[in-house]
Amino acid sequence: MKKLRRNIRALTFFLCGLFVLLAAYGAYSLSTSGGRWFASSANTYARARRQGVIAGDILDKNGVVLATTRDGERVYAGDEAVRRAVAHAVGMPSGNVSNGVETFMASYLYGFNMSFLERLSCAVKGEPRQGDAVQLTLDSAISRYAASRFPAGKAGAVVVMNYKTGEVLALQSFPNFDPMNITAQVRNDPQTPFLNRATQSLKAPGSTFKIVTAAAALENFPDAETRAYQCTGQLQVGDRVITDAGTDLAAGQITRHGQLTLRRAFQVSCNNTFAQIALNLTDPTLRRTAENMGFNDNFLFRDLVVENSSYPTQNRTDREIAWTGAGQSALTATPMHMCLIASAVANDGVMMEPALLQRATAQNGKTRYVFSPRVYRRAMKAETAATLKEYMRSVVTSGTGTQAAVAGANVCGKTGSAEIDTQENTNAWFVGFLDEADAPYALAIVVEDAGGGGSVAAPIARDIFNWLLENDR
Ligand SMILES: [Zn+2]
Repeated sequence: MKKLRRNIRALTFFLCGLFVLLAAYGAYSLSTSGGRWFASSANTYARARRQGVIAGDILDKNGVVLATTRDGERVYAGDEAVRRAVAHAVGMPSGNVSNGVETFMASYLYGFNMSFLERLSCAVKGEPRQGDAVQLTLDSAISRYAASRFPAGKAGAVVVMNYKTGEVLALQSFPNFDPMNITAQVRNDPQTPFLNRATQSLKAPGSTFKIVTAAAALENFPDAETRAYQCTGQLQVGDRVITDAGTDLAAGQITRHGQLTLRRAFQVSCNNTFAQIALNLTDPTLRRTAENMGFNDNFLFRDLVVENSSYPTQNRTDREIAWTGAGQSALTATPMHMCLIASAVANDGVMMEPALLQRATAQNGKTRYVFSPRVYRRAMKAETAATLKEYMRSVVTSGTGTQAAVAGANVCGKTGSAEIDTQENTNAWFVGFLDEADAPYALAIVVEDAGGGGSVAAPIARDIFNWLLENDR
């Protein structure tokens, strides 16, 4: 009997201990990722309706209504082109699109954070409860324009942000869809229109990663700028050969850059040189530079859910390390992250946290939230950023990115294509920015299975930069 009582007491202690641990974990999760709790429940809309809450409006930075509630139904902005251009950023309460504003900012939109007094006031006045109006940093006009420049029928993403503040102006995924007309064709489309490729799709960054490799060289080799590299067009690493874009060994056609400096290798995007640099740096050193720029980080941004980028951490072969220097071999990043890296170069090495929420305003006019810029991390030294900015400028003036040039403006950038030795889909990349004090914008563009970044993605960047210079400075 005594033994049984002792066992019961031990069990009780054990269960109490478990409960305390669980409660502590719950409190921790809520404090570190509050909004994420609401975002993860796909049925917030139904729940809010049951509680008689009218969802708040979603507006763009200029006050254009992107979503509102009419007769109890959620309605999206009048113009189909705008609806499509902001569809992924805004999302839908049904949860088709994961982590759009409709679900991620549900705590505001559905009034989950209303105080007791606010609820009481509505009850006394007999008014229905209304969630907060949410004004975004998005610009529906540039979003609409950018969507019009994206190649029809292709999949991909476009991100445009202010690199000084982190405000995201466009966050787009293609193919997009009309939230007011979800057809069976959209639901069954093999290109998965609901996927937000800007924040959720992890891909090899291709040669845009040479920004990271170049930064590692500049920060670790005292003679980085004067060292001479040799590109024979065929760098033997282990039992494989690393080649440059345009090489077709079977046809006996080989791209050779000869002797070049780091600057020139960056300009012409020489794989041979960047593979040599990666091997000289060694894997841990290159990884450390990549991690300073956010690789292998657990992104916990206030307003956005972004998939984590990865730089492999296991022991790797020389061939894998060499290809990593050129942006391939198990490296993955989202277009949003590559935009952040370009932004850090533009912003003297400081990476700002990307933001989507400008302001939240309660039913009674009270301001619930106002955006203020927040530094995410120092991604590189200021002098490294200054040198990379020059390199990226030279890519656009006389390298692989000349098609991104805008007359009279300082456009900086880096092109990328999947130049891997096992020819798969070739994704066209361009990341870059305007080095203009009154137009501090960076962007990242990916067009999947489309060919070279210089010929496919760079012209889209040029058009977007042009639009920003004409309309947003
Ligand atoms: Zn080369």
